[in-house]
Amino acid sequence: MRNPLSLVQTYKMTNHKITVAIDGHSSCGKSTIAKALAARLGYAYIDSGAMYRAVTLYAMRYKLVNSGNVKVQELIGVLTEIKIEFKYNPSTQKSETYLNGENVEDEIRQLTVSQNVSPIAAIPQIREAMVQLQKEMGKNKGIVMDGRDIGTVVFPDAELKLFVTARSEIRAKRRFDELTNKGETVSLADILHNIEERDRIDSTREASPLRKAADALILDNSNMNQEEQLDWVMRKVRERLEGNF
Ligand code: C5P
Repeated sequence: MRNPLSLVQTYKMTNHKITVAIDGHSSCGKSTIAKALAARLGYAYIDSGAMYRAVTLYAMRYKLVNSGNVKVQELIGVLTEIKIEFKYNPSTQKSETYLNGENVEDEIRQLTVSQNVSPIAAIPQIREAMVQLQKEMGKNKGIVMDGRDIGTVVFPDAELKLFVTARSEIRAKRRFDELTNKGETVSLADILHNIEERDRIDSTREASPLRKAADALILDNSNMNQEEQLDWVMRKVRERLEGNF
C-alpha cells in the first residue's frame, strides 16, 4: 500500500495542484484549519473574510457605516480607492492584511469591525469586486481559501469543498478566549449575539448567501481539537489526490 504522506510529498513536487474551498459559520475555526492545511500542502492561504473586514474598516474610518447602517451608494462610489493586499510576514510566519498600504491585520479582527461587516458584505457590488480579486488569486490553483461563498460562487469547481460548523456557544467561547488573550475587553454574551447575528445576515442575504455547496463535506468540529481536524481534512485531500494519479 502506498504511504499517504509520501503521496502528498510527491504532489508537492509536481505542478498538479488542487483548490480547497472552506465555507461555514462564523468563528468556527475555518481559518485555523485552512492555514494549517495550506502549510502542510505548501499552498497559498487566502482569508476572504479579511477582505470584507478591510472594506468595513475603511467604511468605519470614513463614517460610511455606523451600527450596521451603511451609506451604500457612497461606499460603492469609493470602492476603487480601496486597495487590499496580503503580505507574508517572515517574523510571524503569517500572511497579513493591508489596507491601502497599511497593515490592518489586528484592527480588522476587533469586535467593532465584526459588528459592521455583515451588512457591508451583503452589498452585491462589494461582493462582485471581492470575488473578482479572489478568482484572480486562485487562478493557478494550489490555494486554500475560506469564507462564506467560496465553494458556491468563487470556486464552484474546487476539487475539495468543506462546510465547517460547530455549536454557537462553543464558537463564542473560542472567540472570547482569542480576543481576551489579545487584551480586548469583551463580553461573552456580546460575542455570542454577534456570531448568531452574522450567521443570520450571511445566510439570509440575497447576494450569494452562506449555504453548503451540494458537493461540500460537512465538518462539525464542536468536539474536535485542531490536530483531529487537520487529520480529518488531510484524509479527504489524500482521497482527492489519489483520484488524480
Ligand atoms: O470569515 P470572517 O468571520 O472573518 O468574515 C467576516 C464576515 O465577512 C462574515 O461574517 C461575512 O459577513 C463576510 N464574508 C462574506 N463572504 C466571504 C467571507 C466573509 O460575506 N467569502
